[in-house]
Amino acid sequence: MAAERAFVFEDEEELFSVMKDMDCLYCRIPVTASKHHLKKKHLRFAIYYKDAGIGKFSIPCYCSDGGHGRSHWHCPMCLKILHRTQNYKIHITNHGVEMTHKSSAELQPTAVPLESPRTRTHIQDKTPGNKLACQKCGTIFTATSNLRRHERLQHGQEQQPILCIDPKNAIYVTPKYLHGPRVPIHIRKSFTLQILLCELEECWDFMKAQAQSGNPGRECRHLVRTNHAQHYVPPPPLSVISLEEMSHKHLLSASEKHQCQEMSSRAAVQGVDCVYPVFWDEHDLSERCVFFSVYTDLEDKWCQFGRTRVSFDTKCGRWKCLCQHKRSRCVHKCLSMWWLFQERPELLQADMDGEDLC
Ligand SMILES: [Zn+2]
Ligand SMILES: [Zn+2]
Ligand SMILES: [Zn+2]
Ligand SMILES: [Zn+2]
Ligand SMILES: [Zn+2]
Ligand SMILES: [Zn+2]
Repeated sequence: MAAERAFVFEDEEELFSVMKDMDCLYCRIPVTASKHHLKKKHLRFAIYYKDAGIGKFSIPCYCSDGGHGRSHWHCPMCLKILHRTQNYKIHITNHGVEMTHKSSAELQPTAVPLESPRTRTHIQDKTPGNKLACQKCGTIFTATSNLRRHERLQHGQEQQPILCIDPKNAIYVTPKYLHGPRVPIHIRKSFTLQILLCELEECWDFMKAQAQSGNPGRECRHLVRTNHAQHYVPPPPLSVISLEEMSHKHLLSASEKHQCQEMSSRAAVQGVDCVYPVFWDEHDLSERCVFFSVYTDLEDKWCQFGRTRVSFDTKCGRWKCLCQHKRSRCVHKCLSMWWLFQERPELLQADMDGEDLC
């Protein structure tokens, strides 16, 4: 029975009719698959996307395949099960579908979308008069504002920024997700070094599966972006004078100061930047968090390419690092603080206003 389940739909009616008067195939505990149930437990959280121009959606599943009724997603294309919604989105985007922004029920908990994206396009196609076609995919729109919105939401990922932060080792940073805060991840790509690597396990799995099915060299959504990468621009280097000043102001302990100096000189020996601040646009500080790519002098699960990610929340003054010191101070946070103290002291304000590294 499980093999016959569909994990992708084109409209709600299709979903309703599949399980008429049956128990829900997507729930572990027997429950009648009424419209009410489907709307409340599944459609509310549906993910909408476009596959070869056709609007489709996936629904979250709670069957026993996911273990203990935990919500999960079945990829309709390779049948892999993913637990985190964000990972599922990345996964199917890697298969080549485009996310669409259907007014999600997260905003309106009781509203259930009635027309599928496909019906909508269909209606627009038939509308006579001035037609505007999307240059990228050919979808027709009647209003410029709708076309702009479509371009932004559907093709926006092509404009996702990507910066080269280490030309020697071919390391780039690019936002992990298509929407929301632009949290950077590291990727490596070089034809001369024959490297094609993404830090995300999801992407790694995807590329491995593609290679096994005769598609070697297929790149994940992040790696694809390197063809519009911004060239390496060296950031202002860390200066010993500002480190001394920080230690005078008791912002760093003596051992932290020593660790910072050590790490900074080890990076220098390798000819790479110890701290690379990730500002996506020139002086773009509209986002609440600032991110740093920091040299670690080792390769581990959390720093596969020898660099970790440190983030600083400029509002509450909270620091985070991917290393094992998630909540406490670590040399990577101290190094990033050094850079901020030296170059953007105004941003450290939240940190100095009492709140300690948390
Ligand atoms: Zn159900
Ligand atoms: Zn399931
Ligand atoms: Zn898949
Ligand atoms: Zn388009
Ligand atoms: Zn990737
Ligand atoms: Zn750290």
